[in-house]
Amino acid sequence: MTSASPESLEHLLQIQDRDKAIAALRHQKNNLPERQNITDLLEALSTLQKKKDFVSKELMSKEEDQQRLEDEVNAIDERVSEQEANLYSGEVSAIKDLQAIQGDIAGLQERKRLVEDQIIVVMEQVEPLKTLCDSLEIEEKANTEQQAELEASLLSKEENIENQIKDVEGDRSELASDTSPALLEIYERIRKQSGNIAVAELNGMTCKGCHLDLPAVEVDRLKKLPPDELVNCEECGCILVR
Ligand SMILES: [Zn+2]
Repeated sequence: MTSASPESLEHLLQIQDRDKAIAALRHQKNNLPERQNITDLLEALSTLQKKKDFVSKELMSKEEDQQRLEDEVNAIDERVSEQEANLYSGEVSAIKDLQAIQGDIAGLQERKRLVEDQIIVVMEQVEPLKTLCDSLEIEEKANTEQQAELEASLLSKEENIENQIKDVEGDRSELASDTSPALLEIYERIRKQSGNIAVAELNGMTCKGCHLDLPAVEVDRLKKLPPDELVNCEECGCILVR
């Protein structure tokens, strides 16, 4: 039977307070809102990048279309110039040949008008894609900046909590060094089992560990025991401080 002086039990209560504080700080550290915010932001960023890739490809393909059509207009212009040179060179004199050249020029100009109409259609498609690409880029940049801010804030909060934990741990080990190892071992074992409370005050008939009333007979029995005798709550098993 382990004995425990009222002072050592008082120490145990203080140690438990520190352990609770450490657990609360660890919980706080693991549940910092920044962590979830960063996860959400990374998800949003990934969606944004996929959208941007899609729009960029679409834009590139439209720009290629535009370039191809513009090249065609240039080729038509060149061909028209050539035919006009032929027309006015004086080398072609037969009416039939001249009319053929004029017919060719008219056909080329008709084709040019069609291609230019197509260019306008493509340009009207390119414009909103460019605007969308720009706005996606701005959004991406803002998200990346926000991510960096959140990560910095997370890091600083984690460090702050770590320092608090170190302080409390220092406090705890000081208290522990003043407590008998055998009693500490019992405390640790009960705490591991209950997951939280291993020592509690007996307040009248009520155990402050489980908040249940002990039977009157049990309370009577405890009162008669020497003050150094270690007793446990029948209900929750924690060490009772009488
Ligand atoms: Zn209890």
